[in-house]
Amino acid sequence: MDFPEGKRYNSFAGYYRQKFGERLQKLVVDAGFTCPNRDGTLGRGGCTYCDNAAFHPGYSTPSMPIRQQLQEGITFHKVRYRNAGHYLAYFQSFSNTYAPVEVLRERYLQALEHPDVVGLVIGTRPDCIDKEKLDFLASLSRGEVLPGWRRTLGGKDLFGPIVTVEYGIESCYDTTLEQINRGHDFACAARAVQMTADAGLDVGAHFILGLPGESRRMLLEQCSVINGLPLTSVKFHQLQYVKGTAMEVRHEKNPEEFLDLDLPDYLDLAIDILERLRPTLYIERIAGEVPPRFVKTARWGLVRNFQILHMLDQRLAQRDTFQGRLFGI
Ligand code: SF4
Repeated sequence: MDFPEGKRYNSFAGYYRQKFGERLQKLVVDAGFTCPNRDGTLGRGGCTYCDNAAFHPGYSTPSMPIRQQLQEGITFHKVRYRNAGHYLAYFQSFSNTYAPVEVLRERYLQALEHPDVVGLVIGTRPDCIDKEKLDFLASLSRGEVLPGWRRTLGGKDLFGPIVTVEYGIESCYDTTLEQINRGHDFACAARAVQMTADAGLDVGAHFILGLPGESRRMLLEQCSVINGLPLTSVKFHQLQYVKGTAMEVRHEKNPEEFLDLDLPDYLDLAIDILERLRPTLYIERIAGEVPPRFVKTARWGLVRNFQILHMLDQRLAQRDTFQGRLFGI
């Protein structure tokens, strides 16, 4: 099986390079949205693991105009990744489709004004989407909302922004979703993914590995459910016990409910999952980083995401395996 960039899996960096001829860097934007699981519509406590502050960088704060957040993000990333010339505005914090279309339009268009921004990645909950919003996003991506908008990417003209919708699905098991207080079930997530793909948009999904009550076997079995969704990409994060969350308390009281894998075991689990995923799915992440001040103990030490990816490559080679090896078997 041939994957881009000499990898043993379909990397998302490779996806952009293959499709648009360039590496693209995501810049986190906090556009000031909230979430129905926090503002009282569904609940006030939120998902039991959630502290949004732990998951977004210092340059993105809602008090700063979106354009300024993007500019500061570009300056920050230029030091780390000199080769990124174009960017995707990543609406990550809270639920970024949780507002009327006119509000969404105003916030997204602010990001697309920046000359180096070529598209949007919109993170949201599956119960915060509907046909009207998807129709708007689809016409935005076809260049109908901003007729004069142009960018040149990989030597080719782009007439409408790249638009990806990324859903927090977290688990395919309703019992888990209930226990972590998500406020929606898996059928809701499956519907949102299908509607988004039907609208002609790229769809990503986020899953958490190690949620309470989920065994290794359950995580491997849910791969066939993931394969059945019309997704473009997937993202996995290990469960983190962020300070002050209900999940931290539960973990302290009932550690036996959690997988609590060390890094080598986690990498093997991630590879077991990769082997079962369809080879056409792009893998955006297999693990996440939370700044050490947000957790009591950094279980894996101060390891960075790029180091984990390097270890993943090494382990895949050691096991002489690849994404999709067990797909359909
Ligand atoms: S949906 Fe997202 S922002 Fe809302 S409570 Fe859950 S994790 Fe937090």
